[in-house]
Amino acid sequence: MASANSPAGASTNATPFLHGTEFEALAEALRAGQYGHGVLTETFEHEVAEFLGVPDMVAVASGTAALQIGLMLAGIGPGDEVIVPSQTFCATVQSIVAVGASPRFIEVSPASLCVEPEDVLAAVTPATRAVMPVLYGGRAVDLTAVQDVLDDRGITVVEDAAQAFGSYFGTRLVGSTGALTCFSFGPIKNLTCGEGGGLVPRNPEEAAAARRIRLLGIDQSQADRIRSTSYQVASFGLRAPMSSLHAAIGSAQLARFPEVEARRKDLWRTYAADLAELDGVALIDVDIDRTVPFNCVVRIPDRDLTFETLRDQSIGVGVHYPPNHLQLAFSRWHRKLPVTESLARQVMSLPFHPAMTTTDVHHVTTALARALRSVPALAYRSGSEGGR
Ligand SMILES: *Cc1c(COP(=O)(O)O)cnc(C)c1O
Repeated sequence: MASANSPAGASTNATPFLHGTEFEALAEALRAGQYGHGVLTETFEHEVAEFLGVPDMVAVASGTAALQIGLMLAGIGPGDEVIVPSQTFCATVQSIVAVGASPRFIEVSPASLCVEPEDVLAAVTPATRAVMPVLYGGRAVDLTAVQDVLDDRGITVVEDAAQAFGSYFGTRLVGSTGALTCFSFGPIKNLTCGEGGGLVPRNPEEAAAARRIRLLGIDQSQADRIRSTSYQVASFGLRAPMSSLHAAIGSAQLARFPEVEARRKDLWRTYAADLAELDGVALIDVDIDRTVPFNCVVRIPDRDLTFETLRDQSIGVGVHYPPNHLQLAFSRWHRKLPVTESLARQVMSLPFHPAMTTTDVHHVTTALARALRSVPALAYRSGSEGGR
């Protein structure tokens, strides 16, 4: 149902993709009258768990809340260090700060913008209690080379898979690998609930704890509460349940997810073919065969100028993300990260959302080629920066 989507084309960087079925699902949820956590939330949880092939999934209000709860389940708190790439959305880092722990920023590979196992290992200190790999662009992060060391030291991996719903790690879906995995179902993510997040617990105890934390520490199911004259507040808790309204949107989206998966992969491959013709442009590799790509990011030498040139032509380029170790809020944890700082001057996200057409992609890559040609020094400079 094409009319469900506004004709955003190449002018927007990212926008939700609707199938049309969300409208009736949401209207029905509104009429049902239960707007907080409810039956529809639990249905969505079961559907996602079934999709992933796991026993359980806990739906929450946002990806950020999922990350914070994931860290809490791993017992992370004040005095603990969490290894995290600086190259991520600030939400990743805020979730660490929210539990009172310290982010320990590390570099990423310029090819994938994901962390490398050896950099994780090199950053381990006696205070390290968790690693938060970010599945940038939807690409799974392989830490098997250091998993034994992490296990021996009692370091938990909490995956920021906000961008990676539907992607595979080898032959298994992200979220079904046994790791504590956190998804976002925010507006522009691979699967959207409007707003929302989800967490795959590693065992029934973690699932119960996550359900308690997401609803103010109350140790009782919604159904039991209705039948009881009291309730037990068992622990600290957030107010981060997923509303039935958002869950209804999520269920409608999930039923049509294969369509989004195919569109995103096609779009990325179309970009890759076009960009291969351009000198001085390095495409961030998302491992497309296994990934449902969240974005299409390139490294280019004179990013700021190119960005402005394309913006002036109403092409929705973006930058994801300004590095976190340079942010004011995180200055206490600043370290020198030359690779990340160099990448930060080069990365640019091209318009990428499932409503885009092949023509839209050609429009973007043609404009990019023109912009690059207009600065003759670029080709020369492209060889000198960013490698590792
Ligand atoms: C979107 C995103 C988040 C946060 O998810 P929300 O649902 O917006 O809270 C965290 N990390 C990364 C890498 C993201 O892209």
